[in-house]
Amino acid sequence: MSLASMRQILDEAAKGGYGVGAFNINNMEQIQAIMEAARETKSPVIIQASRGARGYTNDRFLYHLMIAATELYPEIPVALHQDHGNSPETCKSAVDMGFTSVMIDGSLEEDGKTPSSFEYNVRVTRKVVEIAHKRGATVEGELGCLGGIEDGHGAGADAMAYLTDPDQAVEFVELTGIDALAVAIGTSHGAYKFSRKPDSAILDMDRIIEIHRRLLKTYLVMHGSSSVPKELQDIINAYGGKLKPTWGVPIEEIQLGIRNGVRKINVDTDSRLAITGAIRKYMSEHPEGFDLRSYLTPAREAMKRVVAKRMVSFGQAGHAGDYDPIPLSVMAQRYSKGELKGE
Ligand SMILES: [Zn+2]
Repeated sequence: MSLASMRQILDEAAKGGYGVGAFNINNMEQIQAIMEAARETKSPVIIQASRGARGYTNDRFLYHLMIAATELYPEIPVALHQDHGNSPETCKSAVDMGFTSVMIDGSLEEDGKTPSSFEYNVRVTRKVVEIAHKRGATVEGELGCLGGIEDGHGAGADAMAYLTDPDQAVEFVELTGIDALAVAIGTSHGAYKFSRKPDSAILDMDRIIEIHRRLLKTYLVMHGSSSVPKELQDIINAYGGKLKPTWGVPIEEIQLGIRNGVRKINVDTDSRLAITGAIRKYMSEHPEGFDLRSYLTPAREAMKRVVAKRMVSFGQAGHAGDYDPIPLSVMAQRYSKGELKGE
């Protein structure tokens, strides 16, 4: 089976009324953890790589690991997505490399730090849509800025400083032709999202409901949506870690989003916490150990468990067998005929 179009995965999710987790990866063990979780729960899935991950894996390792995943898990539709592309060139290189989907984050300038103008965002996003759709690849854009910084990318601003404006969102989708829209509703990248359990004063779910009301056919994306479970924090801290108390996005809020047009949910921190906790535990309990498989195996298993849980909560579980991936060449024809317009 070939890598799937993210657009197709999200079309199917919209039909079925569920969300799909987009899990970040940097190495083989993380890809294996996600694919095992997908097999166990029979889930279609999105695997995504940031610019940092692409540099870390030198792209070709990543791409060929993903091809191995499609060979070894032929029953799982899986898309390979560029997370937070900072320029049309980055996105083009991802499509050239075999990614089936790209995010262009024009909410920030090319430095990945400075909040940009609406006009700049429309211009670069439109350009990526032209490049990607011609090749059958999916495009996610972003309007508004998230809080925090991830892999050196982010305004580092207060998460409530640049929320997505619903009126502007309609205009943005019309002007760019994107498939999916990342919205800023008060979440941040990284482990430190909220200093207390989030309520509506710091997590603006009403904004998602309003954007969805106006953009029924555009798939919404929640970034920074790890739930940062206390039990994973506790394992790290029990074995010598020093995480400060923190709160993520509660699963119930994500599920509310899914009932209101959210189709892609980005999760990275939860995987990192699970892996780090398992490695710390092993190291602490086996100070004499030095075989990397002895700690990467439980680390991979811990990530698999948290990913599988998310797949069940998001509703994608059970849907892997609903469809076969459409080749990107066919998706390209459908884009060129205007069959895949959002609104
Ligand atoms: Zn993000």
